[in-house]
Amino acid sequence: MRAEPLVAAIEAASEGLPAPRRLLLSPRGRRFRQAVAEELAREARILLVCGRYEGVDERVRHFVDDELSIGDYVLAGGETAALAVVEAVTRLLPGFIGNAGSLEEESFRGGLLEYPQYTRPEVFRELAVPAILLSGDHQAIARWRRKQRLRLTRQRRPDLLETERLAEEDRELLREIEREDG
Ligand code: SAM
Repeated sequence: MRAEPLVAAIEAASEGLPAPRRLLLSPRGRRFRQAVAEELAREARILLVCGRYEGVDERVRHFVDDELSIGDYVLAGGETAALAVVEAVTRLLPGFIGNAGSLEEESFRGGLLEYPQYTRPEVFRELAVPAILLSGDHQAIARWRRKQRLRLTRQRRPDLLETERLAEEDRELLREIEREDG
């Protein structure tokens, strides 16, 4: 895409205050992660610039603040990537989710995947909800959930654990998991 019309569009859309944080969607960009979504949710205004075809003229990069990639694959255009960014960011804005506390323990918060969720009934096709969740013991449930987060992250995304600074209690739970799961 040529620089001239794209930069004219960026400048027109940037008019007014506060100035937006201008982000170019690009497979070469900084990886879009939950931490980046949290960072963008604190911005007053963001402007997402989408490429098409072979991408954008290199000089356009001088007119944006950052480049974001939503993953290691190539889409036909930036619009789908922009929608992913919009959805991940807007759900973090105050008032979007009724119970803000439910954001606290979901996947990637604190570098861990989410614990397994269950709904009613207690038994579905011979698959029972873990008994501890029906025990009413809130402390035991919180410990079980934390352990499940650690277990799932260890199994599926060990890379997340490598970069996460864990509390002593979590390290103890991980040792327990290692003994149980091998
Ligand atoms: N030639 C480019 C390359 O190899 O890096 C790919 C261009 S792609 C076909 C066209 C546009 O889709 C890009 O300019 C970008 O806006 C968007 N796009 C494609 N993959 C993307 C990704 N993983 N993350 C963010 N945007 C992406």
